[in-house]
Amino acid sequence: MAHGRCRASPPVPDTVGPVYEPDPVITCIDCGGRAHLNGHPPEEGWQPGMLTMYRCEDCLDGWYLEVPDWDDV
Ligand SMILES: [Zn+2]
Repeated sequence: MAHGRCRASPPVPDTVGPVYEPDPVITCIDCGGRAHLNGHPPEEGWQPGMLTMYRCEDCLDGWYLEVPDWDDV
């Protein structure tokens, strides 16, 4: 066996992978109400590290959730 380094396979840019879709509605952490996704998805799709913004319909609080690195699963 060769004594080599274990490398992760490089990203394949031409492959259309699954598109990340944030939940349209989440549960408000504060009041337990329904918080709706605010704004439009970017043209290039959601990328890890982007912030999605939710607005609670009950307490009108805003929540920012970072898009997870779903390639890393
Ligand atoms: Zn709320």
